Amino acid sequence: MGLFEKFTTIANGRNMLDQLGFDPFNVEIEEILSPTMARIAGREVLLAGTNNYLGLTFDPRCIEAACSATRAEGTGTTGSRMANGTFAGHRALERELAEFFGCAKAIVFSTGFVANLGVISTLTGPGDTLLIDGDCHASIYDGCRMSGADIIRFRHNNAADLEKRLRRLGDRAKNTLIIVEGIYSMLGDRAPLAEIVALKKKYGFWLMVDEAHSLGVLGRKGMGLVEEADCLEDVDFIVGTFSKSLGAIGGFCVSNHPELDLVRYASRSYLFTASPSPATVASVRQALQLLASGKDLRERLWCNARHLYDGLAKLGFSLGPEPTPVIAVYVRSKEETLFSWKELLDQGIYVNLILPPAAPDGKSLLRCSVSAAHTHEQINHIIKAFSAMSADITL
Ligand code: PMP
Repeated sequence: MGLFEKFTTIANGRNMLDQLGFDPFNVEIEEILSPTMARIAGREVLLAGTNNYLGLTFDPRCIEAACSATRAEGTGTTGSRMANGTFAGHRALERELAEFFGCAKAIVFSTGFVANLGVISTLTGPGDTLLIDGDCHASIYDGCRMSGADIIRFRHNNAADLEKRLRRLGDRAKNTLIIVEGIYSMLGDRAPLAEIVALKKKYGFWLMVDEAHSLGVLGRKGMGLVEEADCLEDVDFIVGTFSKSLGAIGGFCVSNHPELDLVRYASRSYLFTASPSPATVASVRQALQLLASGKDLRERLWCNARHLYDGLAKLGFSLGPEPTPVIAVYVRSKEETLFSWKELLDQGIYVNLILPPAAPDGKSLLRCSVSAAHTHEQINHIIKAFSAMSADITL
């Protein structure tokens, strides 16, 4: 057995799924028909778990930008920017991101995951402290582990618990980086940013916000929670991804600290991985323009989010704390979550199946994400599918 001994629990879980006769973790999307529809197992299915918040993946302008960049510059960069050189598009995208956020500096990474790894592990090191919300994303946890700094978690969205820990830190608060998310990926709630900024003024720590799920979703221009809460001046670093509202792949960090540029030279996940492809850069640049001027898209997105949240709440399901485009339905047990997920798929609805340890506090969730591209009828269809299940399964 050797190395594979530690996989016994995973193997047992897989055997259980084999006996059930379906595998929710290996769903094959046979054909992707639109931002909201796909063919799975020969049937048309309504997608309610894409993170495609603005529905831009099929926008003809983004597609055309990606195609013409591929024709002009090729399919890939075939290496990192330090070794192989920076394409003009990388620079242009960084300039446009900095302009969009009104920040001095921007760095583009190959994914949001490696943006977090690279930025967190480079900014902090032994002797520093990381104080992170307990519900932060895996990439934030991994970046923290790689840094060698002391890692302290505070209770999710609990500013009082955060302050308690800051008090204990005393002078070390000055070398402390606090990390929160704009909208949390699993429960869909927002960080209490105004309260955290008030603590920053009192204790003088550094603050990073991951806007992966809030970029394009919150704020008049779609900059995220930092814009909505009017805290741009007070947040030191914003990180985010191109893989959700921008409909592509990649990640970024922006900051008003000119020293952010130095992170490039120290961040292994920037230095030692291939830079984003011309197609990605071109479609993201186009999508960023659409996102910035996408007030109508945001209105439609929020209208859909409220409609689904209210509809599921009325059916008696226990949901995440507030209506946002990420809507988590709590289910009592792992088994019931698994079977409900399958029941929804049989009714032609695809949602995200979230089992421990992926969800906070060992909970199991049916996670829905809403898109501006969903029609009113599609949202009704999702509600109807849930209504066919008993709300008794909910926590
Ligand atoms: N941060 C958060 C909060 C996320 O939810 C995710 C992805 N789900 C990431 C970072 C990583 O983004 P990417 O998919 O671009 O690697």
